[in-house]
Amino acid sequence: MPQKKLIDGFNRFHDKYYESGEKLMEKLAKNGANPEFFIINCIDPRNGADLVFDAEPGQQFVRSQMAAIIPPYEADKRPEISASLSYAIDTKKIQHLIIMGHTQCGGVAALVDGTSDQYIKSWVKMAQQAKCTAESNVGTTDNEALLRETERQIVIMSLKNIMEYPMVKKAVQEGRLTVHGWLFDLEKGTLNEYQPDKGAFKQLSGQQQPPEQKKPAPPRRRPPPPAMAA
Ligand SMILES: [Zn+2]
Repeated sequence: MPQKKLIDGFNRFHDKYYESGEKLMEKLAKNGANPEFFIINCIDPRNGADLVFDAEPGQQFVRSQMAAIIPPYEADKRPEISASLSYAIDTKKIQHLIIMGHTQCGGVAALVDGTSDQYIKSWVKMAQQAKCTAESNVGTTDNEALLRETERQIVIMSLKNIMEYPMVKKAVQEGRLTVHGWLFDLEKGTLNEYQPDKGAFKQLSGQQQPPEQKKPAPPRRRPPPPAMAA
């Protein structure tokens, strides 16, 4: 059965949250959830926020869109984004809105290297301005450097764009919402935050040193007891 992997996964989820411990899902079904966070991430299967943050049910809203691009606000356009934001911010009173891009992003590669797919093209072109900034920062000769810089610039552009959505702007002005721009580096295994005052990303967590500099892990098995004296 091709979907066996999913059913097995559902059964593990069921055991963990319906059968064990405090039976969290039963409580959430009865009382509803009051998440603190809303995370907007890319559709990439390696970077989903529930996976990356090892989330419990009810912990966070998650919205996935290619390259985690937030398009400029236009009234009466993209109601799906505005509706999600409005519900999370004004009804559920989240306190943190996080835009999380990631490295090795296929959507960013489509923007930088081009694509013949008309649907992808029409979405990623909304980050054209981020690509132009990246080109002026690192040039166009080193493609890998341009991809990494475009990934960073899309987070910065999206942070600026989301502040124009009325429900976000109002909540930030009233001091009940903080907006963050994060970048998950898939290759290095690090989480990085954009600091608008410094104009740079700062590592928040994750691998501090390259793996080869890590201390070797201690042996897992205890040494055998000394042989008994005859
Ligand atoms: Zn992506």
